[in-house]
Amino acid sequence: MSKLVQGYEVVIGFETHAQLSTTSKIFSRAPTAFGAQANTQACAVDMALPGTLPVMNIGAVERAIEFGLAINAHIAERSIFARKNYFYPDLPKGYQISQFEIPVVQGGEVSFFLEVGKETVRKTVRLERAHLEEDAGKSLHEDFIGQSGIDLNRAGTPLLEIVTQPDMRSSEEAVAYAKELHKIVTWIGICDGNMQEGSFRCDANVSVRKPGGPLGTRREIKNLNSFKFMQQAIDYEVRWQIDQIEDGHAIEQATVLFNPDSGETRAMRTKEDAADYRYFPDPDLPPLVIGRDWVERVRGEMAELPRVMAERFVSDYGLPEYDATQLTQSKAVAAYFEASAQACGQAKLASNWIMGEVSRRLNASELSIDQSPVSAAQLAVLIGRISDNTISNNAARQVFEGLWNQEGEVDAIIDAKGLKQMNDMGELEKIIDEVLAANPKNVEEFKAGNAKALNGLVGPIMKASKGKANPGQVNALLMKKLG
Ligand code: ADP
Ligand code: MG
Repeated sequence: MSKLVQGYEVVIGFETHAQLSTTSKIFSRAPTAFGAQANTQACAVDMALPGTLPVMNIGAVERAIEFGLAINAHIAERSIFARKNYFYPDLPKGYQISQFEIPVVQGGEVSFFLEVGKETVRKTVRLERAHLEEDAGKSLHEDFIGQSGIDLNRAGTPLLEIVTQPDMRSSEEAVAYAKELHKIVTWIGICDGNMQEGSFRCDANVSVRKPGGPLGTRREIKNLNSFKFMQQAIDYEVRWQIDQIEDGHAIEQATVLFNPDSGETRAMRTKEDAADYRYFPDPDLPPLVIGRDWVERVRGEMAELPRVMAERFVSDYGLPEYDATQLTQSKAVAAYFEASAQACGQAKLASNWIMGEVSRRLNASELSIDQSPVSAAQLAVLIGRISDNTISNNAARQVFEGLWNQEGEVDAIIDAKGLKQMNDMGELEKIIDEVLAANPKNVEEFKAGNAKALNGLVGPIMKASKGKANPGQVNALLMKKLG
């Protein structure tokens, strides 16, 4: 299902840094809260004062285990911390503690649905690894005083770097992967997912090749912190690489930055190789040993995962897989669905309403489902009134509008707006007889075998009933009368 761009196949692999939601740092007791005054949350360990030693934060390890379980990966029984050496002012130790040869989470996969044209296809992206590491500090360039400062509050913040195989074949797939990953880490609660604050940042490795050919040289777009920019940056990068190749230039491996103002990517530095970092095992930290009993304990304590919940929605409520996936986008949506489906006993209708009218209105007003003015219980009552033929689907939309605007409860709105469906057969028959008498031509044509002529009759009947006739009953009665 590769979509070619000017005859080239796009290849994308992701590296994502998810900031783990521990209250203290990965190797020290300093707090991780965002937004504190500069250097008030950096202790001696974070500042790399001589004589300090790192101590592993068990909460960070536990979150890595949870992630591994959520994506069906192998949790290494023994993994190693390494020093990644480089100089930068915001890195006082001169190295970052990370994991290199043996990461804590190995393999696993993330799968999601994607709209391709009119079709919905399932895509699976294989993960290579996820490893624990510490974040660096920040350089603050205070242009107004012409000085730069270093803020070490972020130094030592726990990160999980999640690396995929180069499995994505378009910017759409890449964004869908990133959204799914974001859903997983926030669902299991290991990361707050706040992209503006940098809690979830993605690096996209992008290359192009002729279909079937060897992998092209990649350029890595750093620190994409919104889904919108992610798509724009990758699309720009793909066009840029193709233009270069078409003009006869080779792509040079590089790290690039996306500038949202210009919409362009620009090379920041030529890419360093692992060898440049002179990785070696950190002698200050013992191997990270994770017993199987610990893994099982974590598994037992984890909430139901989105994909497990989606499978349950298929088996317990008979929903199509697509619906089940949509409804498990967040815990709040899933809970809303279950509450309304159980209350009305019509899971598919509840799903249709939530994915349709409810989502549309929420999106338009930029509200999350917990803020919905229409409760799950009200939606269930509304669905009940459709299935017991009190109101038509069209009328139901008006009732929903009323609920949204807090005009009252379902039955009160139906009464107030006079939306009750006409269930008085005598009255309906009278209308039908009148319409038949007024449209002899349609009647004749229908009897002569033109099925479409029926539409010319149904319309006026619905109109004469002020939309209150039940379309099913209208059809049945018409058929009876026309033979
Ligand atoms: P490094 O650690 O030096 O950044 P890796 O080999 O670990 O390099 O790859 C990093 C990311 O780049 C992975 O997500 C991988 O899938 C992706 N990747 C590797 N080769 C390519 C390529 N030719 N095109 C696109 N992405 C690639
Ligand atoms: Mg990298």
